[in-house]
Amino acid sequence: MADMAFNPFEMAQKQFDAVAEKLDLDQGSRDFLRTPMREYHFNIPVRMDSGTTKVFKGFRVQHNDARGPAKGGIRFHPHETVDTVRALATWMTWKCAVVDIPLGGGKGGVICDPRELSDREQEQICRGWMRSVARNVGPVQDVPAPDVMTHGQHMLWMMDEYEHLMGGQYPGVITGKPVGMGGSLGRTEATGYGVVYTIREALKELGIDIKTATASVQGAGNVGQYTVDLLQKYGAKTIAISCWDNNDKKAYTYRCMGGIDFQKLLAAIDKFGTVDPAKAKSYGWEQLDGDAWVEQEVTVLVPAAQENMLNGSNVHKMKASVKVIAEGANGPTTPEADAEICKRGIFMIPDFLCNAGGVTCSYFEQVQNNMNYYWEKEEVLNKLDQKMTNAFKAVSAMAREKKVYMRDAAYMISIKRVAEACHLRGWV
Ligand code: GLU
Repeated sequence: MADMAFNPFEMAQKQFDAVAEKLDLDQGSRDFLRTPMREYHFNIPVRMDSGTTKVFKGFRVQHNDARGPAKGGIRFHPHETVDTVRALATWMTWKCAVVDIPLGGGKGGVICDPRELSDREQEQICRGWMRSVARNVGPVQDVPAPDVMTHGQHMLWMMDEYEHLMGGQYPGVITGKPVGMGGSLGRTEATGYGVVYTIREALKELGIDIKTATASVQGAGNVGQYTVDLLQKYGAKTIAISCWDNNDKKAYTYRCMGGIDFQKLLAAIDKFGTVDPAKAKSYGWEQLDGDAWVEQEVTVLVPAAQENMLNGSNVHKMKASVKVIAEGANGPTTPEADAEICKRGIFMIPDFLCNAGGVTCSYFEQVQNNMNYYWEKEEVLNKLDQKMTNAFKAVSAMAREKKVYMRDAAYMISIKRVAEACHLRGWV
């Protein structure tokens, strides 16, 4: 468990420093890009259903907006820390740059557990969050979105609060809104589907037919769910998935050698990805330890839960069958585990490339909001596939050409683009 508590912001900075050195980046750009441009910390008082008032701590971090408005999700999590938000904001900058969309990087959070809050209490948190930063976010400044344990309804409450304050219709203030309320078709699927587009491309490069591939997924939230969906559509089998059990307050891995069926999965989980164990058992899925997802004899591992999940204590449990690691989550691999994966020559699809489908579709949502004209789902998904595939190919070509690890190749492309934008603006 040595590196389990690794500080994600230190990790993000270390990764940046190493690549900045490789790129021989000037010192001014290094100092500027290794820390966020702006941060907001605030308290959100909420009158609870019990009649008492509880104060929730909220954050918004804008890492960089040289290439466009800051962009990134808002997480609701009981263990949220400002350093996690800083790391995630930084990764958003690299994520938007690697897929070459005109946006910067930001992230927000609230220390809370929505699984333990009523809808009304969650609505008050959303409205309070927006009231606290309404003057610092907006369609041309910083555009939030869903993330861990937030979804379309949360986004809509926030948009509504913003519109009340500003007096007008501003659908472009936030993305991930419900369809029909300014949301884009395909946004719900986008992150998971994007993960699978990159897996498809990686398998092609390795000469593996996706129909013969098997996967083990960690996390049954939005990303994990739609990863399972598209893998199944491509004829690949997800044989294991780990899900959070809110009664036992721990995760379990569910295994089904014939493949976890997407529709059954959806029926067994709630909107936070927490599982109903009775349902899972009724399907004949075998219940294993939470960490057992790592130890499965599969072609692809998809950590799609949270930070530090592939670490020094479990990376050695990975089977030799694993050919690809697709980081659906942000920062799921600690430096120690990453070094081991690199040494073993496993094809790594790094987080800010692998899970960029969500923000790419958010960008499409903004474009549709600006036009006030909405595309068919097929058009959205085709455009998404194209963006993800192009980005994957550019990173993989860079890795081959410079003989570097995929994560470093992705960083090289992104850092160059962002540093260039800062330079052109005359900031550094
Ligand atoms: N929260 C997602 C991410 O980490 C999506 C962000 C967005 O759509 O702005 O990439």
